[in-house]
Amino acid sequence: MARIVMKFGGTSVGDIERIQHVARTVKAQADAGHEIAVVVSAMAGTTNQLVGWTRNIAQVHDTREYDTVVATGEQITVGLLAMALNDLGVPARSWLGWQLPIRTTDMHGAARIQSIDVTGIEERFSQGVCAVVAGFQGISDAGRITTLGRGGSDTSAVALAAALGADRCDIYTDVDGVYTTDPRIVPQARKRPMIAFEEMLEMASLGAKVLQTRSVEMAYVHQVRLCVRSSFAPETPGTIVCPEEEIMEQEVVTGVAYSRNEAQVTLRGVKDRPGVAAQIFGPLADAGLNVDMIIQNISSDGEQADITFTVLDDQVAKAREVLDELQDMMQAEEVIFKPGVSKISIIGIGMRSHAGVAAKMFACLAERSINILAITTSEIKISVLIDEAYTELAVRSLHEAYGLAQAQQAQ
Ligand code: ADP
Ligand code: ASP
Ligand code: MG
Repeated sequence: MARIVMKFGGTSVGDIERIQHVARTVKAQADAGHEIAVVVSAMAGTTNQLVGWTRNIAQVHDTREYDTVVATGEQITVGLLAMALNDLGVPARSWLGWQLPIRTTDMHGAARIQSIDVTGIEERFSQGVCAVVAGFQGISDAGRITTLGRGGSDTSAVALAAALGADRCDIYTDVDGVYTTDPRIVPQARKRPMIAFEEMLEMASLGAKVLQTRSVEMAYVHQVRLCVRSSFAPETPGTIVCPEEEIMEQEVVTGVAYSRNEAQVTLRGVKDRPGVAAQIFGPLADAGLNVDMIIQNISSDGEQADITFTVLDDQVAKAREVLDELQDMMQAEEVIFKPGVSKISIIGIGMRSHAGVAAKMFACLAERSINILAITTSEIKISVLIDEAYTELAVRSLHEAYGLAQAQQAQ
């Protein structure tokens, strides 16, 4: 007998038939004698609609009330799934975040899980009852409903698996595993049987939304056995996220990720003196802005600097507000906002020990006349910023250039 956490995403619980299908998948595991905790998302599209409503009511609103609204989608699906399971003869009950409780920080809209009380679930397990838990939500010390950021049900599932000491955490979604790139953009993308935690972390944080970044981090830290698989074909083996040492053959580049909706901000002609970067990026961070791809160029006379960085498109207004306040201190000649850019990244642990990987990326983009606006690198990834219109072309071209699709044909 094993203890398993099964997580089903929005498309997997998108309508009544699909919820019934999920119930049959859960039943198969319960019938095999396993203890099952299921974590579910809201029905596909529901959370987007709820977020839309909060924006329509008031552009600027209390984030505690935002969470009260956007957490409701999961309340529907946990109740329906528990009903569907009981209907199939599988005893089940639902829990919302506050009922367990799942305790989180009070960073509304992006809260972090601090602890999960699993006493209630353990008690029901001993009575042969299956637990159905709402993903994406928790409760703060102040007793307010919190949410974990978009895609947060993955994190709820991994955190629950860690708290329950589960043997594995299976993430059931609308693709049958983690691919070399988003299969919606490159149909020839190849499914990876295994992926190292480090690579999955980079893939997720650079835009591959198949797993929320925080869930990968948490699985890594708590050594949760994580598997991404298809809810439509649950018997198909998925992708196992595992320690690097377990992967026998490592290619140099193993994945291409993209993130649209970025904006480039350039501060031109900033007075160059010690501490200026701290004075600019400190307030941006305090305002909760996630700044990325920072580049600084010094003028030839060493007097002035141009500082460029990226933020998400929907954070431009906030960035503008913060920078306006800093204008006197920075004395920048000009602040330029360029929305509509994309970040394209190649990822691979093998990059650590190979030269020429970046040169190949730049040559590939140059051949397609795609202009690079900014570049950042780390040990296992290279990211470039390009015009959003070329996103798909860049992803496809890089996928081909590194032979990621060909490997599939060779198998
Ligand atoms: P869920 O609702 O089940 O949480 P998501 O929409 O959050 O599902 O994530 C699954 C989607 O992630 C897929 O439909 C796919 O388009 C996208 N995706 C992006 N990059 C990848 C990748 N490298 N491998 C697999 N899926 C990816
Ligand atoms: N329903 C939430 C969202 O759409 C959480 C999730 O699906 O993981 O972001
Ligand atoms: Mg998701």
